[in-house]
Amino acid sequence: MKDAGARILRGGAFKPRTSPYSFQGLGIEGLKILKEVGEETGLATVTEVMDQHDVEAIMEHADILQIGARNMQNFPLLVAAGKTRHPVLLKRGPSATIDEFLLSAEYVLSQGNPDVILCERGVHPLDRTYTRNTLDLSAIPVIKEISHLPVVIDPSHATGSWKYVPAMSRAAVAAGADGLLIEVHPDPKQALCDGPQALKPEVFARLMADIRRIAEAIGRV
Ligand code: PEP
Ligand code: MN
Repeated sequence: MKDAGARILRGGAFKPRTSPYSFQGLGIEGLKILKEVGEETGLATVTEVMDQHDVEAIMEHADILQIGARNMQNFPLLVAAGKTRHPVLLKRGPSATIDEFLLSAEYVLSQGNPDVILCERGVHPLDRTYTRNTLDLSAIPVIKEISHLPVVIDPSHATGSWKYVPAMSRAAVAAGADGLLIEVHPDPKQALCDGPQALKPEVFARLMADIRRIAEAIGRV
């Protein structure tokens, strides 16, 4: 992934699964793996924190704290992340307005942590037949106008289907996104979580080459 151009490694150790019977992540063991791979590859790391009491443990193992869509309005968690100096990757709740999203970011900023990365990951859909959520690409130019914070797009959780990830990634970069959060798995069928939306490494590498051309065309490289 690094050779293909990835800069940050994201892996979930504490997973917010809809069902308590789904794979819940490896917990602390997973964090150790993430840290080890981050050090070995030189990639920065990001992982989700679901509970304010876990912030410290997560900080010891990862460079960036992710606050997921389901916790976008978990105010004690936002405050706890705001008291740290770790950058926070804040995901938009599927039913949150842009103003609600930005006010959640303010909970972190107002505690003195200036480093919030906003992540649009699809909003509640009208139609779930083909995609998991509806990617709100218009959030990119809107947030660019009313906020100074960087915006990244997660086409994987937005579409829920690897086939649509390249098109949405290209569109996001063309629309001015500052980054992409893309799920990759060497053997998606074996993935314990979100396999259907994971790109194979070679598809990711091709996508990165396309994205580089788009970024160049719009003067972003
Ligand atoms: C995730 O990023 O792994 C995740 C669960 O996504 P979201 O919080 O956007 O649903
Ligand atoms: Mn996932």
